[in-house]
Amino acid sequence: MSDNYQGYREPALSVLKENKVSVWSAVEMSTKRGTFKGIILPRSETADNHHVVMKLHNGYNIGINVSVIDQIIETGRKEAHYKIPEKEFPVDPKKPNVKLLGTGGTIASRLDYRTGAVIPAFSPGELYGSVPELADICNLETEKLYGVFSENMAPEQWVGTAQAIGREIEKGIHGIVIGHGTDTMHHTAAILSFMVQKSPVPIVMVGSQRSSDRPSSDAALNLIHAVKTAAESDIAETMVCMFGPTSDQYGLLHRGTRVRKMHSSYRSTFRTIGDIPIAMVDRQKITPLRTDYIHRRNDREVLINTNFEERVSIVYYYPNMQPDIIDSLTDNNYRGIIIAGTGLGHVNKPLYPSLKRAYEKGIAIYMTVQTLWGYVQMYVYETGREIMELGVVPCANMLPEVAYVKLGWALGQSTDLDKVKEIMLTPIAGETTEREPYNGYLIYQGGIPEVEEFLRVIKR
Ligand code: ASP
Repeated sequence: MSDNYQGYREPALSVLKENKVSVWSAVEMSTKRGTFKGIILPRSETADNHHVVMKLHNGYNIGINVSVIDQIIETGRKEAHYKIPEKEFPVDPKKPNVKLLGTGGTIASRLDYRTGAVIPAFSPGELYGSVPELADICNLETEKLYGVFSENMAPEQWVGTAQAIGREIEKGIHGIVIGHGTDTMHHTAAILSFMVQKSPVPIVMVGSQRSSDRPSSDAALNLIHAVKTAAESDIAETMVCMFGPTSDQYGLLHRGTRVRKMHSSYRSTFRTIGDIPIAMVDRQKITPLRTDYIHRRNDREVLINTNFEERVSIVYYYPNMQPDIIDSLTDNNYRGIIIAGTGLGHVNKPLYPSLKRAYEKGIAIYMTVQTLWGYVQMYVYETGREIMELGVVPCANMLPEVAYVKLGWALGQSTDLDKVKEIMLTPIAGETTEREPYNGYLIYQGGIPEVEEFLRVIKR
């Protein structure tokens, strides 16, 4: 036994000590829920103090509450190798320069093969050591801006990322890749589309659903696709680059304001909603799927505008929602509310007086739809018209999360609510569109003949 208890605090710490085990012990742990065999992993400083975390032999990590642990027996030890072999990234003056800005998430980490501990892989040398193909594409520089899982990305990090993008563009970079956790990548893609406008170069967000020690990891391929897009593509927009199909055939480039994470574990989780993606990318080429994208330029001009009002909320309507939900936002001095309403954009009648009160207090209230596909249409039913009379403004087919960040940004630009409305209703980066094409509706409904036929074709 050694005395490495990295990250463990009381009461978990005493349980390890009493059982004479520590971090990297291979153990057999008897608990009230059965016996587990695996390796005790370090804990992060912010983790709670009631769980012992183990890597099981099947590759999964579990946290076991100390209150259910009966006994832990050490059967051996396995230490993680924290260092990834570094190779110097070769510089070729003929290749474009790409900057990788890291914010965190699974893509920024790599699991140690034997122990399962998450360790960072980020310097150009480490990335080159893990994904040597990157050097065939560009000269890569890296900078770690943050090291957070993406639920912790907030206005402070959005602003910092936008400013870092501005600095790199002014310095002359050919393309930017942003490594990010996938969970809130679509929020960050949307806000960057507003905070960074008229970029002359591609800004490509990338993440991974599976960490790089797993055979099924999407980390390396997503990174290759994203770096290729940043280095070579003609598309100077803020995009998300992730697996297209569930297999590793190609990646898709999604417009930052029309994309959403749609599956908690599939690698093909990012989908363009209500439209088709901008392009496909594989190791050989980038194939545009549409022509209406913004083209790359050689100048170094870019508009960075990071003013943001944080007191904005999304209210996801559910049947029987009570007015006090709206009242609490009004009483707590929120300045903007996005409603994700039912159907074409509805909420129940008991909310009406509270919405009126919020509007009269000067809160900007906008309606989006929970269905994600399709438009808010508040003229169809009388109830929709009534809600508009209360001051609620329909947001066409803007996705709720996009409307949330856009409203924060719009309120950061002006305190004049007419001006805010003008900003909200004027598309800046494709966040609302004139029409949603039929092939922009992409939920496979298995069982029906045309979808089964389609699946047969793609599975061949
Ligand atoms: N929870 C992680 C995050 O969003 C998942 C990922 O990186 O994909 O940061």
